[in-house]
Amino acid sequence: MSFVIPGEAICVEEEALPSGYVYSDGRGYLRSHVIGVAVLNKYKKTASVRPLVKRGLTLKQGVIVEGLISSVYEDVAVVKIYQADNIKINATGLLHISQISSEYVADIQDYIRPSDTIKARVLNNMPPYLLTIKEPQLGVIHAYCSSCGEELYLTSTGVLTCNNCGRIEKRKVAVGGYLLVVS
Ligand SMILES: [Zn+2]
Repeated sequence: MSFVIPGEAICVEEEALPSGYVYSDGRGYLRSHVIGVAVLNKYKKTASVRPLVKRGLTLKQGVIVEGLISSVYEDVAVVKIYQADNIKINATGLLHISQISSEYVADIQDYIRPSDTIKARVLNNMPPYLLTIKEPQLGVIHAYCSSCGEELYLTSTGVLTCNNCGRIEKRKVAVGGYLLVVS
């Protein structure tokens, strides 16, 4: 076990599979999403991080958060916020269709879908937290294939594809922030 910070390498890909709060950087290393204690499970061959939780944390306007899209309605998505400023938190956010893109959004599902992970900015100081992903560097940072459920990879030409079934999907991807990049 060792203390890690976001982006820090935990081990090489051959050693373990990425589990909680750990991602593969696409260049051979497993890295941590959060501040916490890295745990290598030699029996299951998984690498995970036990995040440090800061209790009683309230979010402030302007803070960048990460969250999981838990449900998507016609004009709003509910976001389970799990991280702010790289500290683990637990809060609920709402992402309105008007805060998704600077272009006209006809169908919200072309931009975000349930189980996507997003990076967003908080617009207010009180729950429920209102979020925006309009800025180029904000948006989806991890997503799964709507057809087969495998992870989607971002190609060098900016296309989200499924390596398993070949499906191509549309999202509002965070520029420079997507976690699984085809090298
Ligand atoms: Zn697929």
